[in-house]
Amino acid sequence: MRMPLIAGNWKMNGDVAGVEKFADEFEISQDIIEKRQMAICPPLTLMSAWRAAAESKPHIKLGAQNAHWKSSGAYTGEVSPGMLKEAGCWCCIVGHSERRQYFGENDADVNKKMNALLDAGLVPIVCVGETLEEREAGKMEQVITTQVSGSVLASADRGDLSVIVVAYEPVWAIGTGKTATSDQAQEVCGLIRKLLSDKLGAASADAIRILYGGSVKPDNMSELMSKPDIDGGLVGGASLKASDFMGIVGYKE
Ligand code: PEP
Repeated sequence: MRMPLIAGNWKMNGDVAGVEKFADEFEISQDIIEKRQMAICPPLTLMSAWRAAAESKPHIKLGAQNAHWKSSGAYTGEVSPGMLKEAGCWCCIVGHSERRQYFGENDADVNKKMNALLDAGLVPIVCVGETLEEREAGKMEQVITTQVSGSVLASADRGDLSVIVVAYEPVWAIGTGKTATSDQAQEVCGLIRKLLSDKLGAASADAIRILYGGSVKPDNMSELMSKPDIDGGLVGGASLKASDFMGIVGYKE
C-alpha cells in the first residue's frame, strides 16, 4: 500500500513573510496527516525561515528543488545532498523540466543526483515528462522510456530504489493551467510503473510512488487520485497558497 505524497514546488518564489503566512494558515486534520505525506520545497534561502515557522507542523516535510551530485568542492553556486540533509530536508526534486530546459540537465546528470541523494539518505523525486511537440509527434512513450531508463533505471543495480519517487510532469501541463486528463496521466504513470517493474521487479515497482504534476488544483486532485498508478501530486503554482495546498492535500477519496 503506497502512502500518497503531495509535494509543493515553490520554484523561485516566496519570501520570509510568505513562509510565515503559509505556515500559519496551513491546517489539516489528523486523519489526513495519518494517511498522506506532504512536503514543501521552497527556495534554499527560505529553508531556515520555513523550519522556524513550521516547527509545530512536522507533518509538512521540507524539500529542496535541486542538488549537486558531489558532496563538497569547488562548484560555485551549488549545494550538496549532505548540506540539504543538514538543513532539515527530507526530499529533493531532481530533473524538473525547467532544469532540463534552462540549465541543460540531461538524464545522466539526473541519475548522478538521484544516486547522491540516496547516499545522503534523502528521498529523490525524479521528474520525467514529454513536451507538447513530442506528444503530438507520437513520441511520448519513447521519451518517457528514455528518461526513466537514463535517470532512474541506470541505477537498477543499487538495490535500494524502492524509496525513490518518480514524478510524471508533462511539460505542456506545467504552469499552463492545462491539466492532463486523468486517463492521460494514468496511461503514462502506468507505463512508468511497467518500465520500473520490467527492470526492478514487481515488488520494487509496487513500492515506488509515482506522482502526477502539471496544473494540479484542489478541484482536479480527487479525479487524478482515483487512478491506480497515481500516488500523489507534484504541485507548482497551487502550492504557494496555503488554502489551495490544503485543498489538494485534503482531496476527497
Ligand atoms: C511544477 O512545476 O512542478 C508544476 C507541476 O507546476 P504547476 O503545478 O504550476 O503546473
